[in-house]
Amino acid sequence: MPTIHTGDLAWNVLHFYQVPQGLSRFFGDAQPEIVTKWPTMILPALLMLLPVAGQPILIQVDTVPQNEIERRLNAFEDSDAKREKKLLDLFQESGCVDDLTEQPVKYAKAPNIVCTLPGEANAVILVGGHFDFVKEGKGVVDNWSGCSLLPSLYWSLRASPRRHTFIFVGFTDEEKGLVGSQSYVGKMSKEEIQKISAMVNLDSLGTSPTKVEVDRGAKNLLNALGIVATNLKLPLSVVNVHPVGRSDSDSFQDRKVPTIGIHSLTNETFRILHSRRDQIGAIHLNDYYDTYLLIRAYLAYLDQILDRPAPQ
Ligand SMILES: [Zn+2]
Repeated sequence: MPTIHTGDLAWNVLHFYQVPQGLSRFFGDAQPEIVTKWPTMILPALLMLLPVAGQPILIQVDTVPQNEIERRLNAFEDSDAKREKKLLDLFQESGCVDDLTEQPVKYAKAPNIVCTLPGEANAVILVGGHFDFVKEGKGVVDNWSGCSLLPSLYWSLRASPRRHTFIFVGFTDEEKGLVGSQSYVGKMSKEEIQKISAMVNLDSLGTSPTKVEVDRGAKNLLNALGIVATNLKLPLSVVNVHPVGRSDSDSFQDRKVPTIGIHSLTNETFRILHSRRDQIGAIHLNDYYDTYLLIRAYLAYLDQILDRPAPQ
């Protein structure tokens, strides 16, 4: 049973399993109907019909092209301070300017970055990914792969009407013990915490097709991800990484916020983290783009299905 100690994180053997028949046990009997239209535009909007309580619903998102997603992935810097500035730039390029703030974090050199996309309702969907990294490698997998998607996800959602307020957070100093996310939740009142209907955490994407943690994930959020993946015919499987390391979603789950952790780690690829192998070459670019496509549709779907008013 190998044990790897990296920094202040103790890694023990990865608890790994895949659900034998795909993810069907999470989907129930849903046989959703889907209509996907790809208009002939450079950046097509995706229209999907997905079921909620038997009723199809329409979701609409925009799509950042693969070359742009890869340009952003390649824009990683060699220090946390420079990464923080780069992430601010990417948010601004994506149109998040007035609603972009830096939140100072005690004991951290770099602040959290917070980009808010307002919605009609009070409820919040928070999407997070840390931008700091350990210096053994380049920290592209862990976690420029996750945080550099946040501006593209913002851009994908911003043009369509939405119910929830989306808050995109680049967390600082995750590697020093979830410092940025602990500070973020620590500043929130009980009422503000209760407004968060979902916290979607992105950590270490692109080393394989999309993976999701189920041991600590909220079941409704897992079901929803399964439905969207099935409808878009995008790969998704289950790998529990919680036994080998915590991430920013834990800061929220400790406060009873429903969370879901999306990653790409397997028995083979988790050893890339915190090692010299954490380089751009460790990313499978097509898998990484599939993960983006899945998450951007997933967020729009969550916006539709969460906090629906009870039928009259
Ligand atoms: Zn990480």
